[in-house]
Amino acid sequence: MFSFSERLAKLPPYLFVELDRMKAEVKAKGVDVIDLGVGDPDLPTPSHIVQAAIEAVKKPENHHYPSSAGMLAFREAAANWFKNRFGVEVDPQKEVVTLIGSKEGIAHFPLAFVNPGDVVLVPTPAYPVYHIGTLFAGGETYYLPLLPENNFLPDLESIPEDVLKRAKILWLNYPNNPTAAVADKAFFEKVIEFGQKNNIIIAHDAAYTELFYDDYTPPSILEVKGAKEVAIEFHSLSKTYCMTGWRIAFAVGNEKLIAGLTKVKNNVDSGAFQAVQEAGIAALSGDQNCVAEFRKVFKGRRDVLVAGLKELGFEVEPPKATFYVWAKVPQGYTSQDFAAKLLKEAGIVVTPGNGFGEPGEGFFRVALTVDEKRLEEAIKRISALKF
Ligand SMILES: *Cc1c(COP(=O)(O)O)cnc(C)c1O
Repeated sequence: MFSFSERLAKLPPYLFVELDRMKAEVKAKGVDVIDLGVGDPDLPTPSHIVQAAIEAVKKPENHHYPSSAGMLAFREAAANWFKNRFGVEVDPQKEVVTLIGSKEGIAHFPLAFVNPGDVVLVPTPAYPVYHIGTLFAGGETYYLPLLPENNFLPDLESIPEDVLKRAKILWLNYPNNPTAAVADKAFFEKVIEFGQKNNIIIAHDAAYTELFYDDYTPPSILEVKGAKEVAIEFHSLSKTYCMTGWRIAFAVGNEKLIAGLTKVKNNVDSGAFQAVQEAGIAALSGDQNCVAEFRKVFKGRRDVLVAGLKELGFEVEPPKATFYVWAKVPQGYTSQDFAAKLLKEAGIVVTPGNGFGEPGEGFFRVALTVDEKRLEEAIKRISALKF
């Protein structure tokens, strides 16, 4: 009787349908499935953050509508954290907005700056929300392939002049999901220059800046001189503090870009629950040792998985950041075939790389969201397979 809107009809096919169906089938058979598919940390939120939330829930002043921009105290905590971590000052009144998870901000942002027919530059493979936010705003996505030979960085010089003229936003995400690639400050400098020269907004999804290993520390794009003229950066407490379920994040950057996003939010949501914002303040202002602990846990898992895969002959490098490992599928397999084989013959869920975009074909993504013992078990099961 009713038909979906054209924008819903235009949504890309969900590539994991078949895999989800197979996963349910394998589970129903009673197989002990090792799920390395979901990008959701298995560890609980640190207890000092949970305690802060419990106290905050009891306060009647938190039982009312929050503001869309978020509590000033939360934005101040975010600004302080940002200054301590990246050495960059942002004005909590004008250059910070609270988000109900960064997915919310990323999906809504194009509504503020993209008109029908405008182009948005989106990397591929990538988190799907950059394209979907573009679609919902009536924009057109121009894909920038992330290729191993370019260290999974987009080739900005490859963009045709007529596309550049119509482009409003460039999305970036480093440390990257799904490739686990990182970008250095020299790349960000090029990007900021590109944004200034072509009048294109630089929108950087920085969800994984705190999950880094060895001697690497990811920069913020706002560390680049002039970045505040063209850039907005999305930070999330989800991965950093194992708070995916709480829905709390923030964006920082250019005043006009923050104002535009806030204006959209004024009209579609009424902000994050203040008790959750108070938990966020406890996270951002409290002892950061919990984050160092999470890094240690993920590093241990990374080392077990990468060493195990290498020993089995897989082409894979230890990621410098994120909790993902991006590896080549064995010769003779597509990403989909390989993922199906692991599931059916070993009870292991991995994500086929092409699910994040066609250039991801030939790769699979492992999320390090189970403990070392389970990863060892996964390696043992894979070693029993024939490729
Ligand atoms: C997990 C993730 C996010 C964070 O999402 P939240 O809505 O803040 O939980 C954003 N971008 C990427 C690429 C992610 O993987």
